Amino acid sequence: MQEKLQALADSLIAGRSLGAEGFGYLLENRTPQLAQALAKAAVAVRQKIYGRAVYVRGLIEISNICKNDCLYCGIRASNKNCQRYRLGPEEILACADEGYRLGFRTFVLQGGEDAYYTDELLAGLIGALKGKYPDCAVTLSLGERSYESYKALKGAGADRYLLRHETADKAHYESLHPPAMSFENRMRCLRELRGLGYQVGCGFMVGSPGQTAQTLAKDLQFIAEFKPDMCGIGPFVPHADTVFAKEPAGTVELTCFLLSVIRLLHPPVLLPATTALGTIHPEGREMGILSGANVVMPNLSPVSVREKYALYDNKICTGEESAQCKDCLSRRMRSIGYEIVTDRGDVKAGEAL
Ligand code: SAH
Repeated sequence: MQEKLQALADSLIAGRSLGAEGFGYLLENRTPQLAQALAKAAVAVRQKIYGRAVYVRGLIEISNICKNDCLYCGIRASNKNCQRYRLGPEEILACADEGYRLGFRTFVLQGGEDAYYTDELLAGLIGALKGKYPDCAVTLSLGERSYESYKALKGAGADRYLLRHETADKAHYESLHPPAMSFENRMRCLRELRGLGYQVGCGFMVGSPGQTAQTLAKDLQFIAEFKPDMCGIGPFVPHADTVFAKEPAGTVELTCFLLSVIRLLHPPVLLPATTALGTIHPEGREMGILSGANVVMPNLSPVSVREKYALYDNKICTGEESAQCKDCLSRRMRSIGYEIVTDRGDVKAGEAL
């Protein structure tokens, strides 16, 4: 490996962040050998903290109704071909019941920004979930809300919040979102969620239109500084009914490379091998785990709505029952020497370092 690349890899493996220039160089000059060396180091670091455990989070896709119009997203408000649905509290509780029976101890409620889910409704739902299953963690992934709203939901018992920052470069952010959305507001939300005591997840798509080594370097710097408890990264996958229909998808290669870098940058982070990664390659999730990821998020949504929650084309696992999804992932993880664990897997990574 050339000298400068080797020096950067050594720094990263030794636990040092690289700075924007260093990250940019690493990304632009990466080789298969470098990727292999970083994956090996990332797996060793994860092994020390987590052993061979892979954490499971049950994903409940509560609504595909969204007021936003993110250019990349299949459920964007302007997509007239999207068949809209929303789940009521009883339906969501039924998904959680099924999940609990299957051994899930974390429920992730994810959806578009749908005004139906008022603070009052969500607080009631979270209260019901925590009342019935006090041993479970409730994670929300419902987009940008006000400080008061995040506070009320935390007060109702929510434990965690996932809100991908999408990109840490303001101009790039603006090229992916309509003028009504702002980079500053996204960042405000993340800071406030942290301040309120949530375990917080950020993240971004790999290969989103307009992404460069320089914008990715900013993402990596942001992660090094923010130290999220979780970081969701998966490939961008085009959706036929969006502006980006003809754009190429992100690659397995770059996604896995970034998973290794992020593991090394912030060792305790919870890092999912995403459904999007499983969508662009049949063994994508296994490859993600072997690059340093340690979380999988099987789908607990009712089968009747899974196809409708189409953020991108060709999403996998839309026809399977929840039990099948879980069994399939257990088998996949076992096939590469890992065991899925269903405990809450609390790690306050943001505070650990
Ligand atoms: N409305 C919530 C949940 C969004 S969906 C929010 O704003 O946080 C979860 C994530 O899916 C998004 O943050 C985005 O990064 C990802 N996503 C959306 N469209 C995608 C696409 N076409 N390809 C890959 N990932 C996509």
